[in-house]
Amino acid sequence: MTNGSETAVASTWEKPVERPASIPDRADVVVIGGGIVGVSTAWFLARQGVDVVLCEKGHIAGEQSGRNWGWVRVQGRDTREIPMMLESLRIWESLKDETGEDVGFTRGGCFFTANSNKELQSFEDWVDIARDFEIDTRLINATELRQHVRGSAIDWAGALVTPSDGRAEPHKATPAIARAAEQCGATVLSGCAVRGIETSGGSVSAVVTEYGAIRTSTVLCAAGAWTSMFCRSLGINVPQLRVRGTVARTAPCESVLDGNVFDERLGIRRREDGGYTVAHGSVLEHPVTPSSFRYFVKFLPALMQEFKIVRLSFGRDFIDEWQAPRKWELDQPSPFEQTRILNPPATPSVLKGIRNNLDTLFPQLANTPIVESWAGTIESSPDAVPIIDSIDRIRGFHIATGFSGHGFGIGPGAGKAIAGMLSGTDTGIDLFPLRLNRFYDGSPIRPQSAI
Ligand SMILES: Cc1cc2nc3c(=O)[nH]c(=O)nc-3n(C[C@H](O)[C@H](O)[C@H](O)COP(=O)(O)OP(=O)(O)OC[C@H]3O[C@@H](n4cnc5c(N)ncnc54)[C@H](O)[C@@H]3O)c2cc1C
Repeated sequence: MTNGSETAVASTWEKPVERPASIPDRADVVVIGGGIVGVSTAWFLARQGVDVVLCEKGHIAGEQSGRNWGWVRVQGRDTREIPMMLESLRIWESLKDETGEDVGFTRGGCFFTANSNKELQSFEDWVDIARDFEIDTRLINATELRQHVRGSAIDWAGALVTPSDGRAEPHKATPAIARAAEQCGATVLSGCAVRGIETSGGSVSAVVTEYGAIRTSTVLCAAGAWTSMFCRSLGINVPQLRVRGTVARTAPCESVLDGNVFDERLGIRRREDGGYTVAHGSVLEHPVTPSSFRYFVKFLPALMQEFKIVRLSFGRDFIDEWQAPRKWELDQPSPFEQTRILNPPATPSVLKGIRNNLDTLFPQLANTPIVESWAGTIESSPDAVPIIDSIDRIRGFHIATGFSGHGFGIGPGAGKAIAGMLSGTDTGIDLFPLRLNRFYDGSPIRPQSAI
């Protein structure tokens, strides 16, 4: 459902997919995936003078990176992600100047509200973490919260707040970074699915796209929700599950808050166009598939942590994944061409819940129409922390995935760190805690933050 205006979020994915005019026959690096992680990596590589080609099967930001809530936050993150996220916030701050485009980034703070004093005190643990990283997080009481969140009908006890956190517009940011990458010399190909890779002597020798091969020795698979399937076809197991999130945006309206506010009923942030992006605070839908069983044990800790908000459903997704091939010939159409854009429908009952909760929390918005709604397929790793690694078995093959519902904010910082990994440049960001093997080397799987 869109209102067709130029602020429509769906403008990122509703246009027809066109084939690229031509593809280069070689590159230093090929990036698979035109989400924020892939385009940021391509941008940082191109700035270093690396000859990089990015292949996107559908549209730049057509999947998760164009459909998210737009929160850019360090608050509440797993400690393993914090250095990269702090770097990302620095990049966001200068993104408008660096890309020459407005991406809607602004700092307005991130507020996690508490319904009771007990809940407020439970946030203290994260205040301690923030102090260790010199982040400006603090607890505020109900009176101070009312200065930032005006006219809510809920008597919150207070909130955890990080004033330096921010927000940006998903339908603008990733395409802007992609254009900046092109200006620095990167080749960005949308409508160009990668079917697989070729190897020679255990090393990558080419990437095979639907329009032919690109010779290269270095590949980054930043394929979002498709990474597990792509890697499985190469004999690499990447534990990954999909959940679905339904989102809506309101028409421009009265300003009731400036930042991002999370309550168990509602996630809400101010939009650049004067409306709000809203979602349910405690519903994640997981369509059960064969992968749910394959990776069940690894995801058990996350499931136990979030069992109250995960809604399981059984249906078409199970059959689709069951019937999907594990391997395919590289001269034949692959599953990536069959589903150019993952475009799940918004769930009507969740939309109804969003409307009810918005009206309950902010009665003054009760007459504000919801003008657009959509859904996105979120991919998660078992501990809700990204997987960024070089795969030893296939020299030159690297992955960056598992951003687990909070990869938009960290995307530019991840891109810088991944570009460093690929070009052998030290970015000062330790990627060892994000290695794939943490799920296989006996390390305990402990999600610190939520999806
Ligand atoms: C509803 C929702 C709300 C969210 N809210 C937030 C938020 O507020 N803040 C936040 O930080 N994060 C949020 N996220 C998470 C965030 O959007 C993701 O973590 C992030 O966008 C992941 O970026 P990515 O580049 O890894 O993946 P994606 O954006 O999914 O990009 C991967 C791309 O790879 C392409 N691809 C896959 N296979 C191939 C192939 N074989 N050949 C060519 N191309 C291929 C896909 O088409 C896709 O475009 C949210 C996500 C959703 C869905």
